[in-house]
Amino acid sequence: MDKVIYMDNNATTRVADEVIEEMLPFMGEFYGNPSSMHTFGGQVAGRIARARGQVASLLGCLPEEILFTSCGTESDNAAIKGTLATHPNRRKIVTTRVEHPAVLATCRELERHGYSVSEVGVDKDGNLDVDELGFRIDDNTAIVSVMWANNETGVVFPVERIAGIVRARGAVFHTDAVQAVGKLPIDLRRSNIDLLSLSGHKLHAPKGVGVLYVRKGTRLATFMHGGHQESGRRGGTENVPGIIAIGRACELAQEHMDEEDTRVRALRDRLQAKILATCPDCIINGDTANRLPNTFNVSFEYIEGEAILLMLNKYGICASSGSACTSGSLEPSHVLRAMGVPFTAAHGSIRFSLSRYNTREEVDFVAEKLPGIVNRLREMSPFVTG
Ligand code: PLP
Repeated sequence: MDKVIYMDNNATTRVADEVIEEMLPFMGEFYGNPSSMHTFGGQVAGRIARARGQVASLLGCLPEEILFTSCGTESDNAAIKGTLATHPNRRKIVTTRVEHPAVLATCRELERHGYSVSEVGVDKDGNLDVDELGFRIDDNTAIVSVMWANNETGVVFPVERIAGIVRARGAVFHTDAVQAVGKLPIDLRRSNIDLLSLSGHKLHAPKGVGVLYVRKGTRLATFMHGGHQESGRRGGTENVPGIIAIGRACELAQEHMDEEDTRVRALRDRLQAKILATCPDCIINGDTANRLPNTFNVSFEYIEGEAILLMLNKYGICASSGSACTSGSLEPSHVLRAMGVPFTAAHGSIRFSLSRYNTREEVDFVAEKLPGIVNRLREMSPFVTG
């Protein structure tokens, strides 16, 4: 394949050159163990401390409130299970039907262990009924977990408002901010959020590193017993290059936040507008006024998202579909189903997620190729008549 046009940044991102440059010495000459007494190891500990500060600065919190993990999934698991373990008299979790499996599958597993889980639905635009969520929180609720931004549609939830409601009801509030960090401004100092998850590989750092923000004073059980690393909450020798990388990536995210909101948003809007203008019978899934700047999810009626993806792939264009191919049958996305998107439209959904590395030429190339692909597939579709 000659050239890749990568528009699948909610799945993973390219590691920024500046990030690679910063982490490489820690895969080579600076191989010391940060827990060692000697200066050689100590200098690595110093760099980890700096990375912690870089992450804290992006989130507007204290460095000691940052715990390094291996990924967003681990952070989500630790937040939920770690809170339940410290609140033994509360047996309920409140969450939403559109969370990532990192939260939903965790909650469903806990349900099998006797916890009760209340999943709040969304409306046709993917927005949450915050009052309904508030009603579900009772004296038995240990934790409320609501994502900041949806990975499939980009729809943003009012987590700061929700955090205030949860705080007033005496429960702990966790947000999966894996898709929000680096794309939306976050200031935890001015919020009631207790726990927040993020993932390195969604913000131009490598795979294998994540973060859990734990507000000072929040009770959270140790999630990896072992050494004293990460204030004794997560034992195990640190992923030093990954931590250095996520620190630098957070610094870069801060520098590029305005670009995300203007240039990337303009590219996203350009592609979306061109598709809507040239492809009949397609609809945008999710509230277009309340979305991440880089994401859009579009349904092409009468055709399969996977078929579109395969044809895009021939041109080197990378995107995602809203279905997951499981056990031979195509399951429409749980997010689109929760929004009540009709079966045929859910099956024909594609997610484009851009980044600061995309160009206007790439957008125009995709917009030029897509109508032909859609027409060809519709000609073959058994659902199109006349
Ligand atoms: N939460 C959300 C919203 C995500 O989009 C993802 C990844 O797609 C995750 C959690 C899981 O993150 P990781 O791949 O780092 O485990």
